[in-house]
Amino acid sequence: MQQTNHLCIDSLPEQMQAMHVVAAGKQSQLALIECPLPVLQSGQVLISVTAAGVNRADLMQRQGLYPAPKGESEILGLEVSGRVVAVADAHLKHWLGCQVMALVLGGGYATFARAHAEHLMPVPKHWTMVQAAAMPEVFLTAYQLLFRLGQLQQGQRVLLHAGASGVGTAAIQLACRSGARVAVTASSPQKLARCQALGAELTIDYTKQDFVAGLKAFWPDGVDLILDPVAGDYIARNVDALALDGKIVIYALMGGRQSTLDMATLFRKRGQLLCSTLRNRTDHYKSDLVRDLLADFGAAFECNELKPELYAEFNWHHVEQAHQLLASNATIGKVILTMSD
Ligand code: NAP
Repeated sequence: MQQTNHLCIDSLPEQMQAMHVVAAGKQSQLALIECPLPVLQSGQVLISVTAAGVNRADLMQRQGLYPAPKGESEILGLEVSGRVVAVADAHLKHWLGCQVMALVLGGGYATFARAHAEHLMPVPKHWTMVQAAAMPEVFLTAYQLLFRLGQLQQGQRVLLHAGASGVGTAAIQLACRSGARVAVTASSPQKLARCQALGAELTIDYTKQDFVAGLKAFWPDGVDLILDPVAGDYIARNVDALALDGKIVIYALMGGRQSTLDMATLFRKRGQLLCSTLRNRTDHYKSDLVRDLLADFGAAFECNELKPELYAEFNWHHVEQAHQLLASNATIGKVILTMSD
């Protein structure tokens, strides 16, 4: 079989099961297929997958709007938990048999997935494998946005749009733990209550109140940092809510790609408008991010003071329901697929 040059703990099957996108586009369907196991390259490990996180990127990819990076798996799935069953190089053999959670470049909706060894994280001892699959994408994204790009400092004020989302619920926890003060927007009392329980000081239901007015009533000088996955007409309003020298980080365009920002408003605040993605960062960048997240917050994950917010778990035979649930905007935190029969 293809993995014979590698170190394996078990005899591996020739074939695996994977969720295949049938005809990417508006009418796309998903079907389980049999296909060969991924072939490892130097520095990589093979994971026997227990669970995979569902992300909006998966929904976009199946619609043909977010193709996999060149040369990477066309199979959906950006994060997994499972057990390392093979490694490409002898110096990685300490990973064999370990329960891990990992960022992957695609290929997570499968019974086996490959990952860079430097993108693996050990599963904290009190966590389930479902919790573990919910961690990598949202915590690495939130960490990157808050601290790498946002340069958030203790005592600063941060506004998180979509506070009850996967990234939002991770960002609330990381920001609060680092001593920042957190405001969120979300669309329902249930979502806002959960954000408050996670540590948000100010919660704004944007369906009932203009978020700029709500924020300025609480913090008249505005906020130092805004993490925004909405964009569109939020961009100009974000500038209004920004403190002098503040930063806005756009990380998705859920509310639209067009903006009518008057640049003078940003200029007067000496504001910075940043945009970021995670998936197309280099392997090296992601390795650093994993290392730094664990250095700063690994102990808090290990003692369960930080953990992913779980909303729903589906067997992967019910993947369509999982996708519909995420697309409905009803979720608080993460939706996870499990691979068992
Ligand atoms: P999620 O858990 O699916 O939650 C998204 C939430 O955003 C929804 O529940 C909804 O909450 C809100 N929302 C959706 N459409 C909206 C709109 N048009 N206007 C205002 N709010 C809207 O999302 P996630 O996993 O945290 O990801 C959030 C976004 O970031 C996604 O687009 C994802 O693809 C992207 N992302 C980007 C990166 C990156 O590195 N750039 C990394 C991870 C994810 P309310 O009901 O409260 O409005």
